[in-house]
Amino acid sequence: MIQPIVSIARCRDYSTSSVSQALQQSLEAMPEVNSLLTAGKTVLLKPNLLSASQPPQNAVNTHPQIIKSVAVYCKEKGCRVLIGDSCGSLSEGSTNKALQVTGVPAIARQTGAEIVNFDTSPSVVVAVDNGKILREVSICNSVREADVIITLPKLKTHGLTLMTGAIKNQFGTIPGRGKKEVHLKAPKPSQLAEAVVDIFSVTKPHLAIMDAVVAMEGKNGPAGGVPRKIGLIISSPDAVALDAVAGEILGYSPRHVGTTYSAFQRGLGVANLEDIKISGPPIEDLRLDNFQRPSPGMRRLLWRIVPAAVVKTVIGLMSAKYPKIRQKRCIKCHECIINCPTNALKLNEGNIQCDKKSCIGCYCCLEACPCKAIYFRA
Ligand code: SF4
Ligand code: SF4
Repeated sequence: MIQPIVSIARCRDYSTSSVSQALQQSLEAMPEVNSLLTAGKTVLLKPNLLSASQPPQNAVNTHPQIIKSVAVYCKEKGCRVLIGDSCGSLSEGSTNKALQVTGVPAIARQTGAEIVNFDTSPSVVVAVDNGKILREVSICNSVREADVIITLPKLKTHGLTLMTGAIKNQFGTIPGRGKKEVHLKAPKPSQLAEAVVDIFSVTKPHLAIMDAVVAMEGKNGPAGGVPRKIGLIISSPDAVALDAVAGEILGYSPRHVGTTYSAFQRGLGVANLEDIKISGPPIEDLRLDNFQRPSPGMRRLLWRIVPAAVVKTVIGLMSAKYPKIRQKRCIKCHECIINCPTNALKLNEGNIQCDKKSCIGCYCCLEACPCKAIYFRA
């Protein structure tokens, strides 16, 4: 087995010089990058553009300077660069808004990169061999056709999957409504992790570069948490190894994070830290003792060991969490209603309310809310 490298570089802020320097340092520690990025290749950059409304300082989307510096790096190698994603919201035009709010059109103008809106570009149905949840997925053509895929995840907590990193970032290769169908097929957190790994298995990036300069902490990640400066750019040709190392920094063993563990078990990457070569500061110096993580949660643990119906009807009543609305913050945009895969959210006398019987706890409403007006509570 070839030992994968995870390369960590300190990056104190999002200034052009800090990011470019850290990126250079991080990538130069991996000799395979030179043979990967050669002149004439088409390189697809896949940032995390989850939110159509939240600006870079909220730490929801991959920061524009990371996207720009990677685009410049690839252009200097003579590559054709595409930047593409499908945003987390299903509202019309949401991916265009996400591209705008993250400054991608300006980055494209400045670097000569091309933008691919996954929602409006042609897609192709791909079989998922040995998929645990999905037999096939519809993904954007550009993902299949690119010579090199570079995923650019943002390091964040996730109320449902504990953390979101390089593996989960590939969920965004599914255009628009396809994501809703995945949530319906995988209502349990453990199922969602398997479905994400199914998607990852057919969209596996050649290189992952994580924006952990300012991460997101707290139980309302990945869209409603709190920005937390970490000051790192973490890169690896092995996205599973990268997530394992990033999880370790946050205080999760790879076994705790369903996506990391499933991808490792399926042979899609390496997750044992002893088998990963880490370049950069020693990981002992980087572990964050006080990072605000979502707890594994009674419901999530129960889903693993008890049939779904039992959890839902008996124990789930005690442990399940449902969306609550901070009515003062709510601007009545109805994004949550549009994005709920089970139609559990309704307007009642002008206020949004959740029908607990229909809610599968997928966090789509929280991810779509532009105002941090949604939180989860038992
Ligand atoms: S109410 Fe929110 S958490 Fe519940 S199913 Fe709808 S989108 Fe998912
Ligand atoms: S809760 Fe959020 S998404 Fe839902 S209507 Fe209010 S502001 Fe919009």
